[in-house]
Amino acid sequence: MAMLSTISTTQQLESQHTSGVYPKRDLTIVRGEGAYVWDEQGRRYIDCVGGQGAANLGHSHPAIVEAVSRQAQTLISCPEIFYNDVRAAYLAELTAVAPGDLNRAFLCNSGAEAVEAAIKFARVSTGRTEIVAAMRGFHGRTMGALSATWNKKYRAPFQPLVPDFIHVPFNNIAALDAAIGDHTAAVLLEPIQGEGGVRPADPAFLQAAHALCRERGALLILDEIQTGFGRTGRLFASEGYDITPDIMVLAKSIAGGLPMGATLIGSRVGELPRMSHGSTFGGNSLTAAAARATLQVLREERLPERAAQLGQRLMDRLSAIQHPLIREVRGQGLMIGMELKMKVSPVLRALQERGVLALPAGATVLRLLPPLVISSEDLDVVADAIASVLFDMT
Ligand SMILES: *Cc1c(COP(=O)(O)O)cnc(C)c1O
Repeated sequence: MAMLSTISTTQQLESQHTSGVYPKRDLTIVRGEGAYVWDEQGRRYIDCVGGQGAANLGHSHPAIVEAVSRQAQTLISCPEIFYNDVRAAYLAELTAVAPGDLNRAFLCNSGAEAVEAAIKFARVSTGRTEIVAAMRGFHGRTMGALSATWNKKYRAPFQPLVPDFIHVPFNNIAALDAAIGDHTAAVLLEPIQGEGGVRPADPAFLQAAHALCRERGALLILDEIQTGFGRTGRLFASEGYDITPDIMVLAKSIAGGLPMGATLIGSRVGELPRMSHGSTFGGNSLTAAAARATLQVLREERLPERAAQLGQRLMDRLSAIQHPLIREVRGQGLMIGMELKMKVSPVLRALQERGVLALPAGATVLRLLPPLVISSEDLDVVADAIASVLFDMT
């Protein structure tokens, strides 16, 4: 099938003029609705890439379309040197649903940018410089966030990175205990490592990180960029661990698919000097309107609960596949990884031919991040497609 497909004008144009930093799949997506996307030929796919985690609400959710259209006709940009009605309402709503004392937020445009702000808040408010992150952790690709990211593939071409970042083995309390000292500004962790292979933190590990940070005057930063907004069966994954971080970073599904990031800060975090940080597009009224609508949809459609139920069903189905190439199935809610005993790329290609789009998480983990609005029938189709692809491989 793939060999017969003609290379479209779109693909020629993009290949000619794009930066070339992305490996491309042989597929041009032109439309989306709910958990489906369509290609140029009108072929439909079940989308378990989910905008790489940005499409929790599904594609072009009517409430987002309506909120964005209305706000676009009213006011699109409004820098934070002025007050704005939509931003004010959103800040109040976001901090109201955020755990514990996370009562203030810095708004920006992406995950990496939210992490950058978190690093700055941590350094300034502790007067310390060191950030302890985890092996296999992923926090973005700007120089500061990249310094916290573990994978050599992302880091190696860009050395030297920002100094004073160290990495400890994930879920290793003794290593964390040994790493946190009076030079530690913050510990930065994902509750479930996404890019690193869909690896949930042990509750004892996150709780130890929380306690050690308090004991030693460091801040705990949780990166909920991928786990946030219902994905894991709760609004935020940390709620399942009974801890509130000092700083929480958000992005991806925060604004129904529009670009936005947020750095939430709690009472242990001090202020940055005025004008020491900022962002031209940060807190603009268009994405703020989309983000308000997102919180409303998550609540009205009970999407976190839905993710929990559907995730359990998908997990059961995937775990029931008896196949020698499967090493482990793990995850929480609708953030699921299947670790294989082979490279995942041929599996992804074969799934695409069967009308299912999925993601890798490292070389051997198949990652599923379907929109939380997906139907259970479509999830069954996904599970069956994965089984049949694996059985075709052997
Ligand atoms: C995607 C991701 C980021 C980076 O977000 P960008 O918007 O791509 O900069 C950071 N941390 C985690 C956990 C992510 O999944």
